[in-house]
Order: sequence, then structure tokens, then C-alpha cells
Amino acid sequence: MAPYFSSVQAEEQAEEQKYKERMALYKKTAALTQIPWYYIAAIDQYERNAQKSTEEEKLISITIPPEIWFGAGNVSLNKDKDIVMLFNGNGMDGNGDNKADPDDFEDVLFTMANMLLTYGQTQDDIKIALWNYYKRDLTVQTIISNSRVFKKFQDINLTDRDFPVSIAHNYTFHNTWGDRRGFGGNRIHEGTDIFAGYGTPIKSTTYGVIEMKGWNLYGGWRLGIRDIYNIYHYYGHMNGYSDDIKVGQVVKPGDVLGSVGSTGYGPPGTSGKFPPHLHYGMYKDNGYSEWSFDPYPYLRKWERMAHSNN
Ligand SMILES: [Zn+2]
Repeated sequence: MAPYFSSVQAEEQAEEQKYKERMALYKKTAALTQIPWYYIAAIDQYERNAQKSTEEEKLISITIPPEIWFGAGNVSLNKDKDIVMLFNGNGMDGNGDNKADPDDFEDVLFTMANMLLTYGQTQDDIKIALWNYYKRDLTVQTIISNSRVFKKFQDINLTDRDFPVSIAHNYTFHNTWGDRRGFGGNRIHEGTDIFAGYGTPIKSTTYGVIEMKGWNLYGGWRLGIRDIYNIYHYYGHMNGYSDDIKVGQVVKPGDVLGSVGSTGYGPPGTSGKFPPHLHYGMYKDNGYSEWSFDPYPYLRKWERMAHSNN
């Protein structure tokens, strides 16, 4: 066997093992606290994807700030669980070693779940708890989206992808991200245009939740999906939507969202001002702000994946 092949296999096995270990930790925490595992998984997923790409990925990425963990007066950062409690720190002992250790994954998950538990176990309770902890709407929204995807598929290892335009149809695309645009003033082109005929099926590329659907002056009939990697996927100029597509719906790669059109650049219903194409944009959230990045390399990768899945 070629060494390259075996190292790829070993890497895949290590990835799968990581997901299994994570799931076991989430489920153990859920059993101890009665907070459903998919909320705990969703918070961890959010924090993992909000961290800097230069930071090393840990098994569990939730990081609770020291002042919240140890308590304001616990200046020596004493990990004894009774001392932490004495200083009104939130850090708890999740694995029975009498320490509340912010570097211990079981302690971190147990602590996070207990902070949620003080608000209750319903989705509304958890939303309030998340808002009070993160104090940011987009963070709360993304975590709730993640939790709904994890709950629906009963899995956290969701790595399939698809190309946004049916590869069974004719299409063409080039790297057009960052080009200057005339309409609507000096705008930068925040996406890749995939040219295809009217009615060509448009598909979800990823696992996520439909966050937005409707008319926009520039985008025409457009749609947005928030995925489980803190990325927002924007589809523009659609001809229309599939009948069953609605805001809040959980989607998976390959789900048909609608079809290619040429809507936009005018009031609702305006069409035909440019050749039919799908405008595909991607926006990343790092926990502070959201910005457009070039989808082209991802589209090329998903195109290859779509071909190998057929
Ligand atoms: Zn475009």
C-alpha cells in the first residue's frame, strides 16, 4: 500500500475518533445536567469556529474567562472546587477530582451546562442564558442554528458538501470576487457568479439553517443559509424558491432551494437586466464581526466532491 494512501486513512480515522470523543463528552455532560447534548455541542462548535485560525484546535474549544471561572477575588486562581465556590466563581468539578480546572474538558462542559441550567432547559431559557453570557445576537442565533442541525441529524460529524448549481446542467464560473461593480455606487463584488440557464436547480452546499429569504434591490430573490462553521452562504438572483423552502428550515447538502434566474437591480419582480446566473457569497463570523471572503476555492472543491459523489 502506498504510504500516501495509508496516511490519509490514518488522518480520517483520527478525525472520526475526535468526533466520537467529543460526542461522548457532550452526552456525559447532558446525562449529568439534563441540558440536551446538542446545545452543549452547538456552543463548542461556535467557539471552535470563532477562534483564530492560528490557534491549535482542541478537543473541546469552549473557553470560560478566568474572572467568570475563578471568581473576582480568587487572585491566585486556586482550582480547589470549594475555594472557587467560596469566591463565587462559576467553575465546577465535572469529573469528581475535587478540582474545578478550566483546562479539564469535563469540568468546562459541566460548568457551561450548569450556567445554562440556572435559566432552565427550554430553547427560550437557553437563548436567554446565551444572550446573558455572550451579549451578542449573532452568536446566540448561530448557536441555536447549530443546535437545530445537530438535533435533526443526531450527529456532529457533518462534513459532506455539494456544489450550489446542479452539475448535471451546463454552467460556468470564474473567480470574480472583489471585482468593481457599477450598479448602486462603488461596490465590491462580494461573491462568485455561476452562469447557468434559467431554471437550473440551485442546491444547499452545506448543513445549516435558512436564515433569510425574500427580495433585495441588488440580489433579487435571494436566500441565506447559516452553516455550522460560523459561515453565512448568500444566494442571489434566483428565479424562485422550491415550494417547501422557508426561513428556519434545517437543510443539508444537495437540498434543492430553487432555480437560477436573473432577478434584481430594481423593484420586486425585476428580471432580465443581466444574463441568468447564481451569485454565491460567503461571510465569516469570528465572534466580533462578519466579513466577505472569496468563495471561489471552496466552489472548486465542492465541485470536485459533487463529481466524486455521483
Ligand atoms: Zn455576483
